[in-house]
Amino acid sequence: MPMSRNRDAYAELQRLLREVDTLRSIQATLGWDQETMMPPAGAPARAEQLALVAALGHERSTDERVGALLAECEADATLLADERVAANLREIRRDYDRARRLPTALVREFAETASLSMNAWKEARQRSDFAAFAPWLAKVVELNRRKAECYTDGGSGSALYDALLDEYEPGARAADVESIFTELRGALVPMIAEVAGAAAQPDDAPFRAAVPIPAQQELGRFVLERLGFDLMAGRLDTSTHPFCEGAAAGDTRLTTRYAETRFPDALSSTLHEAGHGMYEQGLPKREFPGQPLAQSASLSIHESQSRLWENMVGRSPEFWQWLMPVAHRVLGASTHRFSPDDLYRAVNRVERTLIRVDADETTYNLHIMLRFDLERALISGDLAIADLPAAWNDRVRSDLGLEVPDDARGCLQDIHWPMAAFGYFATYTLGTLYAAQLWDAIRRDLADLPDQIARGEFGALLGWLRENVHRHGRRYPAGELCRRATGAPLDAAPLIGYLRGKLAAVYGV
Ligand code: ZN
Repeated sequence: MPMSRNRDAYAELQRLLREVDTLRSIQATLGWDQETMMPPAGAPARAEQLALVAALGHERSTDERVGALLAECEADATLLADERVAANLREIRRDYDRARRLPTALVREFAETASLSMNAWKEARQRSDFAAFAPWLAKVVELNRRKAECYTDGGSGSALYDALLDEYEPGARAADVESIFTELRGALVPMIAEVAGAAAQPDDAPFRAAVPIPAQQELGRFVLERLGFDLMAGRLDTSTHPFCEGAAAGDTRLTTRYAETRFPDALSSTLHEAGHGMYEQGLPKREFPGQPLAQSASLSIHESQSRLWENMVGRSPEFWQWLMPVAHRVLGASTHRFSPDDLYRAVNRVERTLIRVDADETTYNLHIMLRFDLERALISGDLAIADLPAAWNDRVRSDLGLEVPDDARGCLQDIHWPMAAFGYFATYTLGTLYAAQLWDAIRRDLADLPDQIARGEFGALLGWLRENVHRHGRRYPAGELCRRATGAPLDAAPLIGYLRGKLAAVYGV
C-alpha cells in the first residue's frame, strides 16, 4: 500500500519540521528578549543559549531521516497531485538541501559570533569607535564568505554574494537587483534635486511638538487595533531598533521607539512593524505548522507589507483626515494647532539626511543602494574592512551631498552587518517596489479605498492582502506572487509614478 505508507511519511515529515520550527521559535523569543528586556551583563550567556538552540535546530533539520522521508514523499504522485502539498515539498527540499551544505560547527559559530558582534557594535557605536568594531566586522564578513562557499561548492565572485542574497530573497540575483535599482536611481536623483529647490517646503513643526510617551503609546495601540493587528495574538513593546518577530502561531511581537518630540516617527514605526505583524498573523500557521506554506515568501514580500501600511496608507491625506481628531484627543494640547493637512505635508517631507531609519520614503532608497554596493564589495574583497568608513563617507557625499561627522552616523549606524546579515539590505527597496505595485493593483480593485481610509476602515484592504499575499506563504516565489497579485512582473514604474504623484501633491513640482 504505497499510498498509505507515503501519507504516513508526509505526516512524519510534518511532525519533524514542527519540532525544528519550535526550536526556531525558541530562538526568536530569546532574540526578542535580548533586544527588549535582557540586562547588558546577560549577553555572553545569551550568546551561548542562541548558539546551542541554533545548532540543535540545524542538526534536526539536516537529519538523514528528514531526507529519507522527503524522498519518499517526492516519489508519490498522489501527494504531488495536490498543488499545495507539491509546493510545500518543493520548499522543504530547498531548505533541506541548503541546510545540509552547512556544517553544524559553522552554524554554531555563526550564531554565537552574531550575538557577540551585536553587543560589541552597540558599544562601538555609542563611542563612534570604528576601530573597536573592525575586528568583528572582519569576522562576520569572513563567516559569510565561508557560508557562501558552502552554498556554492567553493564558488567565487558574484556567485558568493548571490548565495547570500538567496537566503533572504530566494531566486534573486544581484545583477537583476542592480538593474532595477539603476532604473529607480535614475528617476530618484533628479526628483530629489527638484524637491530640494522647490519654493514651498513643508513645515516640520509636528516633529517638534512635545507629546508625553504614554500618550503616544496609547495612540499606537489604538491604530494597531483599527488596522486589524490582533493584540490578543501579539504585543507592542519598545526597543532601540524597531522590529517584528513572528515568534509562533498566536504570538507576534512588535517593537517601536519613542521620542517626546517626534510622535509621527513612533507612529510610522508602529505602522511599519504592524504591516510585518499582520502578514505574520495572516500566514496559515495553524494549518501548516512549521512548514514552508506557513512562512513568508521572502524578505522583500515581508517588507512590501510593512511599507504599504507605513507609506501608502500612513502617509496618505485620508489617513490623517481620519486620525487627526483622535490624535488631538489622545496626544493633547501640543498637537491641537495641527490640521490633517499639516501632518500629511510634514510626514511627506523629503530631506537628505545621514540616518537610514530616519530617511523619508524617497531618499531612503539611496541609502539602501549605497549599502547594497558596499556590502557586495566587502564580500568580494574589493573593499578592505579598514577602508569602509572612507568609502561610506565618499558615497554619502556624492549621493546625498552630506558630510558624515562620525562613524556612529556613518557606517556604524545599522544593526545588519553586526548581526552578520549580508544580502539583507536590498530587500528593503525591493519591498518598497513590490508595495507600490501591489498598491496600484489594490487601487484598481478597491475603488473607494481612499474613502474607507478616511473613515478609519481597513478591513477591505487587509482582506485583499490576506487573499492575494498572506495566505499563500511560500507557495509561490516572490516574483510569481507579484505576477499573480498584480498581473505583471516587478517593475520600477509603479514606485516612480507613486513618488512623482506624491511630490507633485506636496511640493508642487
Ligand atoms: Zn521592515
